[in-house]
Amino acid sequence: MKCLLGLGSNQGQSDILLNLAKEEIRKKVGLILKSSGRFETEPWGLKNQNVFLNEVILVETTILPLNLLKTTQIIEQNIGRNKSEHWGPRDIDIDILDYENVKCSFFDLTLPHSQNLNRKFILSLVKTIDPEYRFVGIKNSVSDLLINCKDESWLKPQNK
Ligand code: AMP
Repeated sequence: MKCLLGLGSNQGQSDILLNLAKEEIRKKVGLILKSSGRFETEPWGLKNQNVFLNEVILVETTILPLNLLKTTQIIEQNIGRNKSEHWGPRDIDIDILDYENVKCSFFDLTLPHSQNLNRKFILSLVKTIDPEYRFVGIKNSVSDLLINCKDESWLKPQNK
């Protein structure tokens, strides 16, 4: 099955932390088929914190959604996630943005991710993977959703 994972970091060496996360994802989740590349994004929610570095990846996996959540949480913990504040600073955040053919709303897992349509950086990064991408159960493509997205936060490709 294919799934879209959103990676984010705004603590310490974000580049290295995202590299580590992708290495763990390759080992524990599956093959990374595509990547959006990395973007610097304005902090969402709590504004008074470091800029985020975000990347979205398309992954081929055999792990089912609830186990995938457990796996991504273990990876977050291994990399040393700082969990102190909701929407606050973090070493590494891994969100399951979408999972092939699955729509669900469990206590600890909502698919597609509940914030996809509210976050310009998510729509923009998914658009770089595939402008015609459609989240499960959503009839508009990410390109169309982006046109109507009210989020005005900035984002820019990472300067290397
Ligand atoms: P956050 O730290 O803001 O990314 O929120 C993490 C919490 O969101 C975890 O406790 C998860 O159980 C929950 N959650 C719900 N849906 C998802 C999803 N699609 N991907 C990742 N976490 C999710």
